This record gives sequence, C-alpha cells and structure tokens, in this order.
Amino acid sequence: MTAPFSICVYCGSRAGVAEPFVQSARDVGRWVGERGGQLVYGGGNKGLMGTVADATLAAGGTVVGVIPHALVEKEFAKRDCTELHVVDTMHDRKQKMAERAGAFLALAGGIGTFEELFEVWTWRQLGYHDKPVGILNTTGYYDPLLQFLAGSVRAGFMNDWQMDLVRVGTEPAALLEALVAGSKPAGAQDLSRI
Ligand code: AMP
Repeated sequence: MTAPFSICVYCGSRAGVAEPFVQSARDVGRWVGERGGQLVYGGGNKGLMGTVADATLAAGGTVVGVIPHALVEKEFAKRDCTELHVVDTMHDRKQKMAERAGAFLALAGGIGTFEELFEVWTWRQLGYHDKPVGILNTTGYYDPLLQFLAGSVRAGFMNDWQMDLVRVGTEPAALLEALVAGSKPAGAQDLSRI
C-alpha cells in the first residue's frame, strides 16, 4: 500500500546532550508512523537519526534509508529499514532523499544536518522543487541561526520571501501537520540535473 505522505527528516547522527532532542525525534517518528506515513532519512542507526527511524517503524510507518557505501559502517546502516538504499556518493544520497519525499524537516543536528537543510532550501528558492521545508526548533536550538538569518535580511543579502520558504515550529505535531498538508507527491520533480 502506498503511504499517504512521505517526509524527509534531516537530523543529527548524534543524540545531543539534552533529553528534549531525543524526545522530539521520537515524537516526529511516532507522528509519521501512526498515520501510516513514510520517513525518508539518511539510513543510519546512530543518534537522532536512529531514534526517528525506530519510532516511525514502531508506530507502523515505513522507513526509506539512503546511505553511501562509505558510511555503511561509520553510521551503522539501519538494516531493518523498510527499504535501505546503499548508494555511491553523498550527492546520490541527497538527490534520492529529496526525490523520495514530498516535504522536508530538519531537527536538531550538526553540520551534516545544516548542509542538507540549506541545500533543499536553496533548491526551493531556485525553483528546482516546490516542496515545503521546515525547521523543528526544539528548546530554541536554532534561535541563534534564525537571528543570524534575520541579520542577513537586514544587511540586504536575503529577502523576506526567502525566509518565508521555511516554516519554523516548536511543536512536532503542528509543524508536521502543516508540512504534510502542503506536501507534494514524492518524485514529482527530477533533481538529477542540479
Ligand atoms: P550531523 O548533523 O553532522 O550529525 O550529520 C547528519 C547526517 O548528515 C549524517 O548522516 C551525515 O552523514 C550527513 N551528512 C554530512 N555531510 C553531508 C553532506 N555533505 N551531504 C549529505 N549528507 C551529509
């Protein structure tokens, strides 16, 4: 059976030092799973990545993991994903993740998460896709980044419309509802030529 929606979650390969980060990854996975949705993510079993995938599966959802060969051992590829795709390069990974999802959500994470978030955001501003992009701002983790971005608008390097392409929320359920409501069919855009 086809899942009613597919959401790509970017998040830390570490768990962070505070329980709310793990809890919100669990909440996101459970929300997706309870609705029979599909999680697309980086295919690892470490940190928040493992947490969100486990929670999705436990609640009855499907999980598509996409991981490059080079990271299969380093990030403990999650063998019990509904689908685990082992791809050649990091770029293949990001392309497949973006194509298989109808919306994107970044949870707390490190530079890998930032890079993925900024990439789908810039792809959206350039019109390569029109899928919603969200940031779950657990315990204000992203406040300094959001302040920096507001400063970038004030400094004339960004416009408000670019900020409006990203939806920021603090409650997993409310944010997921909004992203899924605006989500596009997975695979709607060919992202192979970016
Ligand atoms: P991090 O947020 O740094 O813990 O990384 C989260 C995930 O992002 C991990 O699965 C990393 O392998 C992945 N990642 C790191 N750098 C990149 C990149 N350039 N492109 C795609 N994924 C990346």
